[in-house]
Order: sequence, then structure tokens, then C-alpha cells
Amino acid sequence: MTDFTTELTDRLTRYCAIDSQSDADSPTSPSTAIQLDMQRLLVDELTALGAQDVQLTPYGAVLATIPGTAAGPTIGFLAHVDTAPQFNATNVKPRVIKGYNGGAITYPDDPTLTLTPEAFPYLAQKQGHDLITASGLTLLGADDKAGVAILMTAARHLLDNPDLPRPTLRLAFTPDEEIGRGVDAQLPKDLGVDFAYTFDGGKVGEIEDETFSADGATVVIKGVSIHPGYATGKLVSAIHLAGKLIQTLPQATMTPETTEGREGFIHATDMKGSAAEMKITFILRDFEREGLEAKGALLRQVCEAVAATEPRAEITCTITPQYRNMRYWLEADRTPVDLAYASARDLGLDPVSIPIRGGTDGSRLTEMGVPCPNLFTGMQNIHGPLEWISAQDMQVATRLCLAIAGRAAGGERSVCRHDPGRRQHVVADPAKTTNPGGRGRIWKVVQEIL
Ligand SMILES: [Zn+2]
Repeated sequence: MTDFTTELTDRLTRYCAIDSQSDADSPTSPSTAIQLDMQRLLVDELTALGAQDVQLTPYGAVLATIPGTAAGPTIGFLAHVDTAPQFNATNVKPRVIKGYNGGAITYPDDPTLTLTPEAFPYLAQKQGHDLITASGLTLLGADDKAGVAILMTAARHLLDNPDLPRPTLRLAFTPDEEIGRGVDAQLPKDLGVDFAYTFDGGKVGEIEDETFSADGATVVIKGVSIHPGYATGKLVSAIHLAGKLIQTLPQATMTPETTEGREGFIHATDMKGSAAEMKITFILRDFEREGLEAKGALLRQVCEAVAATEPRAEITCTITPQYRNMRYWLEADRTPVDLAYASARDLGLDPVSIPIRGGTDGSRLTEMGVPCPNLFTGMQNIHGPLEWISAQDMQVATRLCLAIAGRAAGGERSVCRHDPGRRQHVVADPAKTTNPGGRGRIWKVVQEIL
């Protein structure tokens, strides 16, 4: 079997050294021009590899085709090129720890930092692996440069080996995933696939087909502003009302810090303003539509209750949909999930599905008609200085990508049974794509809960 670890390590360290952080406060698309540095590099590399239809779209995504050598569904593979705005991502200095000895890892640029297998048990399983970390002052950016390196390596391998059977494959490298703007309205059409996968997950074996459903909410409180010297009986402080509103919302339950597993939350992410006017920003999260609606209704109720205490104030609550649990669509058409499970089992893995307490580009894509589960890359401790990844884990992810392409080759197109008008997809040879072992243990638990 081809060893991909050297190529993956080279690609990851090269890509991570390029600053491509996104910025939620920027109104442009992509949100930062530096993301285009990565994109132009990928355009050059894909062109040099012999990929077809290589394109940098007006919305900043790079698309390319790996021509098929067999019938089968057109499959999309996605990774995002931006890194998280939550931590310093400038001047990333990736370093490789060859043959990890199982001990504590220290950092050249911050001696106070350590990464230990005691604190991070997954690390204990990686003795002997080649690990990639940052130097202590920045995140690494394996989220999601690992996905980029995995897809570029798989693409290189397939383009070098035209004899390997695969259907037509489409690659997409998206900007601005970390700020929830990775899926442009044009992307599903431009991608032109039957279904897709993001490579943006964690531990080896994790195939994620369930995410939060998400809404955003903005509460604006307008008080009555008067010179405080003449304010008796007249001034209405928006700050006091904002305090009352936060105080009235659940604090011992339904917050990110008091929930886990399948529990949702209401989270105030930002509050700013003055005595005259305050603006509070919330995110609402739940795995179920009903649960998400209930959280929105509770927020509105609290707003109304606070408004009732002070009729001179004006309180408005605006709720905006963000993304929806991909499970609703993947349940109706399990083709991509079953194909990923079967391919993972081909590699001797024991795949598991864990509901993600967040969203992915795949959540939006799935909702927009392109079923898109999320697959593991190996990335760990993302969005901070202790981020690390094993080259051997990335190699397993690369093999999964190749296995999916190989298994899908030879499938035939048919109209989707569950929603015939929606799109074409594949029902491949059942012997190839069914999932005889059924879903993993965790999925059974999830089904019981449902
Ligand atoms: Zn990511």
C-alpha cells in the first residue's frame, strides 16, 4: 500500500504556514483577502496535478474535477481553507515530531504550555506516530488544512493512477467556514454532485451525520434617554432592562456550560450599547426543530415579560435561521452515509456517528439539497495553541476518501426514491454499498433517544 504520510506532512506544514484566518466582522466575500493566497496556491497545484475545470469562483471557493473512469454518482469532497478567528493564526510555525515517544510535548515559543497524554487521552494512542503541532504562540490550523492536505493527496494519487476505478469526483475548497459563511448560494449548482462529504472531523472512525439546528437572535432594547440631572420619573435605562432580561433567562440549565450530549442551549454571545439603547446577540441551538422553536419562544416570552415591567421601553426580538440538523435529510436518503460506513469498514475501521454540537458547511449544503456528512481527519484540540494531528491518522482519512471513490465506481444513476423531484442520485450495487452490520453502537443509542 502506498505510504502517504510524507506527502501529507509536507502538504500540511506548507498549508498551515499560510495565514488564511477568516473574520466574522468583515462584510466582504471572502471575509479576508489572505484566504485567496491559499486559494491561488491550490489553483496552481491542482492545475499542475492535471485536475480539470480548475476554477476560483467569484465567492472565493476553488473547484476542480477529477475525471471519472467508471460510472457512478458524481461525488463532491470538501475542505475549508480558512482558520478559526478565535486564536492567533499569524506566523504559524508548524513542526513535526517524528515517532512520538508517548510523553509530554512542550513548545519552543511558550515554555508554559504542555500537551500531555494524561490530559488528552487520544494522544496516548498515538505513540510512534508523526505528530504535527504549532510552536506555542498560534493555533496550528489543521482545522481544516488537514482536510485540504488529505484531499490534495487523494487527488494527486487518483490523477497519477488513471487505472484506479472511480466515478467523476468534484473537489471544493471553501473560504469562511469558521464564520458560518462557507456555502455560497451558488455552490450547490457550481459543485454539481449527487452527494458530498466534508473532511473536517476529529478522531479516526468518526462519520458525522447529525449536527445542531441553529438560529441567531438579536434583542434590541430602547430606553428613554434624558439628562440624568432632570431624569426623575422620566429616564428608562436600557442597561437595567438588559440586565433584567439576562437574569430572567435560564442560567443553571440551557446554557453551553451547563449542557452536553443532545441538550440544546440559549447563549448570549455579545451585549453592547448604552443607557439609551442596548443590543444583545444570542445563538440558539438544539438537535430538534421543536426544541429550537421552544428556545426561540422562551426568549420572546422573556422579552415580553421584561417589556411588561416598563411600558415606556421598546424591546424587539428578531430570530434568524442559521442552519438545520443534517439528519433530517440524511435519514430520508442514507446513500452517502451508508457508502462512508461501508468504505470505513473496508479499511478495518469501526465507524461511529456522534451528534456534532455545532454545524459544518455540510449542514447548509445538506439543507440546500446536497447530502453531505462530515468525515474524520484526525485533528485535535482545534482553535487553540495545543492543536495537533497525527500524519498516520490523516493517512487513514486519505484512504477513506480513496475507498469511497473506489466503492462508488460502477454504481448506476436512479431517481431518488424519497424525493423523486429533487435530484438524481445513485443506488449502487447493493452488494457493494449496503451496510450489513447496521449502524454503530452510538447510532443505536441515538435512535433509542429519538
Ligand atoms: Zn473546521
